[in-house]
Amino acid sequence: MSDDFPDTLTPLIAERRGDLIRLTQDLIRIPTLNPPGRNYLQICEFLQARMAAQGWECELLRATGTPGDCAEYPRWNLIARHRGPRPGPCVHFNSHHDVVEVGHGWTRDPFGAELVDDRIYGRGACDMKGGLAASIIAAEAFVAAHPDHAGSIEISATADEESGGFGGVAWLAARGDFAHVDHVIIPEPLHKDQICLGHRGVWWAEIETQGRIAHGSMPFLGDCAVRHMGAVLDEMERSLWPLLAAKRTEMPVIPEGARSSTLNINAIHGGASEPPEGFTGLPAPCVPDRCRITIDRRFLIEEDIATVKAEIAGLLDRIRATRPGFSYEIRDLFEVQPVMTDRDAPVVTTTAAAIRRVLGRQARYVVSPGTYDQKHIDRIGKLHNCIAYGPGILSLAHQPDEWIGVQDMIDSARVMALVLQDLLVTAA
Ligand SMILES: [Zn+2]
Repeated sequence: MSDDFPDTLTPLIAERRGDLIRLTQDLIRIPTLNPPGRNYLQICEFLQARMAAQGWECELLRATGTPGDCAEYPRWNLIARHRGPRPGPCVHFNSHHDVVEVGHGWTRDPFGAELVDDRIYGRGACDMKGGLAASIIAAEAFVAAHPDHAGSIEISATADEESGGFGGVAWLAARGDFAHVDHVIIPEPLHKDQICLGHRGVWWAEIETQGRIAHGSMPFLGDCAVRHMGAVLDEMERSLWPLLAAKRTEMPVIPEGARSSTLNINAIHGGASEPPEGFTGLPAPCVPDRCRITIDRRFLIEEDIATVKAEIAGLLDRIRATRPGFSYEIRDLFEVQPVMTDRDAPVVTTTAAAIRRVLGRQARYVVSPGTYDQKHIDRIGKLHNCIAYGPGILSLAHQPDEWIGVQDMIDSARVMALVLQDLLVTAA
């Protein structure tokens, strides 16, 4: 980071404080709930109106035919672009505009965007409408300070990150929308002094144990699939979880507990299905002939997915070898490779220098326990110079009374504006 310029950005961002608060509130007040994917067009048009009025080129793009896209819930995305008068690199800020369901336990209006003691409350406040607003204010302040900057700035607001990103970043990357991009910052809530280099891998699968239906009064005439699944869970307790806990990664994953391999059982279903709401009758006596679990295995950059899958198959085969009548099926649902950007990548070193200058401390490098849209930029877009950096506290994401701190947004906007200055003015 160069000190060639007097600090014109800090006052330009400070004077936009009210605008930043209003913008964040306006975004929270558009309930872009996913599922099913509400108000995507509304939020994209709102942002388009703001950016176009300031001379940004805007593209409004519907990811037609992607999962969930339909007439009622179309998957809309926005890319806004500011080109400088000189050639140079393209710096892209990507935020998802969707938010997860509200859930229970709120003491504030989830879409009221109340400002209380420097905090703005609401679903999506930290994940990640606050980050989106901070990147917009950063870019607008930067353009005001350096209208003659080199290259271009892009700000995208994309659909469906919370449900895999297939109608958002994955779709844009497949279209080639990252082909000309040089640097990507995703303002997810990783905190203003941390640079998130990537995330662990994911494998979701469904395991089914099979039995034979019979009358519940004579279970010895059938074969209970739930008991077979019990054997699977028992074996997992005895051999799998200890094995996973012992696998440690060099990735700086936060929180600390996620620095091991993990496996969650997302769901278990067996036997009679749940009675419909309002049904007051009794169940019929049957031996369950099917039992299914959904597993969510998070793996490390040191592991490969074939080994991860073989571990589970091996466990099931061990049970089959000793347990009479045991049979199973396993079905892949979803997988994502781990991603970790190099610490020497230009977007990393530039952001680290900006954090040092704005906050007076060294940036901390972290890796996210769960995935986010960086996977698509990395794998489909083939762009490895990508990080997540943004205001907010990760543990508040998806929680009741989610909030974003105004000063945190201001500080991270200062960092983002300095990154732009370094990449599009100093170095260009
Ligand atoms: Zn998010």
